[in-house]
Amino acid sequence: MLAAGTAVALTGCTAAQGDPAAAQVPEAAGQVPVRPALLPPPPGGPKTAVPPATITALPGPGSCMALTVDDGASAEVVGAYIQFAKDTGARFTFFVTAYYRSWSEHRDELRPLVESGQIQLANHTWDHADLTVLSESSVADELSQCKLFLRNTFGVDGSPYYRPPFGRHNAAVDRIAADLGYRVPVMWYGSLSDSGLITEQYLVECARKYFNPQTIVIGHANHAPVTRCYGQLVDIIRERNLSLVTLDDVLTVV
Ligand SMILES: [Zn+2]
Repeated sequence: MLAAGTAVALTGCTAAQGDPAAAQVPEAAGQVPVRPALLPPPPGGPKTAVPPATITALPGPGSCMALTVDDGASAEVVGAYIQFAKDTGARFTFFVTAYYRSWSEHRDELRPLVESGQIQLANHTWDHADLTVLSESSVADELSQCKLFLRNTFGVDGSPYYRPPFGRHNAAVDRIAADLGYRVPVMWYGSLSDSGLITEQYLVECARKYFNPQTIVIGHANHAPVTRCYGQLVDIIRERNLSLVTLDDVLTVV
């Protein structure tokens, strides 16, 4: 049963949907099957020094890809991403919107992965407000409340990286963020387009389009479809010889 369960977890959307017997495999309560890491470790070598400024890609040549996963509106999807990391060795960065209960709910499973560096946490504000329409003090509150939550819950504050909700920021917002230690606004090259509900097929099409060397790709822990596509995402990453990395794996901010 464990082997069948593993196959379900790592099989792409189509195969999983087409196999009703596999879908009925119960969770193996209390057991932690040993699964091989399917993705390679990050490449060694020196980190790339970047200035404190907006990034939309990983600088320089290489074969890395920084998957960044935002929000956390669904505790189930946050949990599935954590399991994905455990199952495959995937390394990625969560941009945490601290207001969602998902993050406290999964604290105990997530914290060891944060401490080992496999999963990085960064600031995506308290409750996902558009920072460009807030007063200066409200912008500071949005970022500092998330900072406090991350510090208290995970022992890190996510600095120097923050992602402005909706990608909306300006010089004034960035200055306030920098004053709180968030000196690098992290934008993206491509998106899995799943901040709202989309089909699994479209999500995988987006991955095929945007999973490329030295990119920053954005996904969301909001809706279930991605949790049924992990096998296909792994296939794309492996076919293209990409290494999933956290921002800290490859960058140092000077
Ligand atoms: Zn967001």
